[in-house]
Parts: sequence; structure tokens; C-alpha cells
Amino acid sequence: MKKTVAFSKNATNVFFHILTQCNLKCRHCYINKKQHGKHALDIKTIEAWLEVFRAKSRTANVIFLGGEPTLHPGLPLALKKAKNIGYSSITVDTNGYLFNDILSKVEPGEVDFFSFSLDGATRKTNNIIRGEGSYDRCIAGIREAKHAGFPTSLIYTVSRMNIHELDLMTTLLNDLGVDRFFIQVIGIRGKSAASRKDELQVSCSEWLRIIPAAAAKIADLGITVTYPKVFLDPDETFECAGIVADNYFIFPNGRVYRCPLCEDFPLHSMAFKGNQLIKTPQINEDDLFALNIPEGCVMNKLVQPGNLSYIRAGIPAYKVACCMLKEEVGKAKT
Ligand code: SF4
Ligand code: SF4
Repeated sequence: MKKTVAFSKNATNVFFHILTQCNLKCRHCYINKKQHGKHALDIKTIEAWLEVFRAKSRTANVIFLGGEPTLHPGLPLALKKAKNIGYSSITVDTNGYLFNDILSKVEPGEVDFFSFSLDGATRKTNNIIRGEGSYDRCIAGIREAKHAGFPTSLIYTVSRMNIHELDLMTTLLNDLGVDRFFIQVIGIRGKSAASRKDELQVSCSEWLRIIPAAAAKIADLGITVTYPKVFLDPDETFECAGIVADNYFIFPNGRVYRCPLCEDFPLHSMAFKGNQLIKTPQINEDDLFALNIPEGCVMNKLVQPGNLSYIRAGIPAYKVACCMLKEEVGKAKT
């Protein structure tokens, strides 16, 4: 069963980049150290910032990110802190290297998901994108996490370099036994912004022809599949998550964004000064969210206009959805 997952208006979602260092050099890495800093946050600061966002609503979810978050020796303490102060769900996004023996330092009850990134069904395609050895390490990491009793998910970032292998993921996902599968669309930010965009960006027709069908096939295995809507149907209403949802993208230099497409620019609407969260002065992303344009997402038009096409000047062929609007294909088997 397919459904569009509306923005949750009663939950706070915290995307917490606790450091920007990473052992890999993926070709599409969105981390921009000039914008986000090079240092790792100390554990006391991580704990204090977790408290700030936990207090924002009754339900709060946190995803720990990097860089590679398992490179941070304080990650086990951060996970325990998030659990103790009542985050409803706690996820670690990892490239699979699982540094610092992380699986032996936390209990399955303290982490809802270890979420692994793999960008090819074959070793060759994944390693071209993510680096030599990364395929085998990611597969091994998933098996280790499952063996230790942790629920797992897998994230596949679709670009022109790997869209042809999405169909092949069915066999691999079945073999690995992951619980959830997330398809992402390549974002033109970080390193991707400096690449030839026509080598990366997938067209509307390709996306609509391949992604929903591939997701449905994988869901038939009994895996929940989530993918971004990207292109709105003509009768669908456009909404900007920056206005209607409660998402925060936090970086080690204290910047806090509401929109991931703004992350290459000093457009963050909030920042930490010490452990106090303050509003930044205009102009910032908030001023952009309020613009009403026929193409839908303002930031998409500014940073990745290759997603757009026009019937004639000023009349777009379709609206581009907020990058955080998702389709979910539910389990066909129970
Ligand atoms: S694993 Fe993530 S943070 Fe590390 S280089 Fe790849 S995309 Fe960037
Ligand atoms: S991706 Fe577009 S629609 Fe979504 S929060 Fe950013 S500016 Fe708003």
C-alpha cells in the first residue's frame, strides 16, 4: 500500500551532525566543511543541545549523523542521553565502518535503527561512488548490527550513476534482511554542486518511470520503502516543511537550518551561541520559505533548477515538492 507521508506537525525531528570528519570521500558527499566547521562537538555540548530540542514538543526524534558519527568516541553517551531524556526514536546513520566498537557499547533498546548507506547493488557501482572497500564493509556492518540484535535500514541515494541498479537491490535486501529501505534523490549540494549536474541529476520522467515501480517490488519482500515524492501531481498542494514542520539540521559550528537545501549557504535561521539557541537576523532561509512561486520549492529553483521543465516561459510543467515530502510503500507481507 502506497501513501504520501504528510509532514508531522506535532513532532520535532532533529538531524544532528555531531562532527564532519569521515573516513570516506564519497563523490556526492553533501558535507561542506567551509560552511559547517571541521571540529567534533564535545559530549557535554551534544547533551546540552539534545536537551534544547527535546523540550520543543512532546514527541522528538533524533538522527545522529556526521561525517561518520561512529568516529565520535562520545556517540554511546550521546545515544544514552537521548534515550534517557525521552526521544521517541533514535537513529544512527553510518557508512558501515562502525568505529569505536559501537555495537558493543549500546544496547538494542537504546537505538531504534542503525541506518546504513549503500549506493549500488554491485560492488563496482557502489565503490565508484563511495570508495574502494566501502561495499564489503557496509554489507559486513549490516550483518554485524543484525547479529547484535539492532533493527537496520538501508539508504540508497539515486543518481544517474546508480539508478540502473535499483532493481537489483531486491535480491540484496532480501538476503540482508534489513527492516526499512530509504531511497533518496541526489541533492545538488556539497560535492555534487561542483560536479557536472547532468551526470548526476535524474529527470522527472526517469524518476517516475523507475522509482515507484522499484519501491513497490521491494515492498513486496515485506520491507517498508520510503522515497521522496520530488514531483507533485497536478492536483496536489505544495507545502514547505520550513513553514509547516519542525525539522532541525544541526552542525558542529552551531548553525541550525530548517531546510537541507540551504546548507551550502549561510542562510541558517538559527544558531547556537554557547548552549543557547538564537534566531539569526534577516536575510535567512525563513524569508525564502514564504515566497510563493509556481515551481513549488524555492530552494530547488535556486540550487537545482535542472529538476524543472516548462510548458512555456513562466509556466512550469509540474511543481517540485519539498525535499522532505515522502512516499511510503507499506509491507505487503506481515
Ligand atoms: S560516508 Fe557520508 S559523510 Fe562520509 S564521505 Fe560519504 S557521504 Fe560524506
Ligand atoms: S526543500 Fe523547499 S519546500 Fe522544503 S523546506 Fe526547503 S525550501 Fe521549503
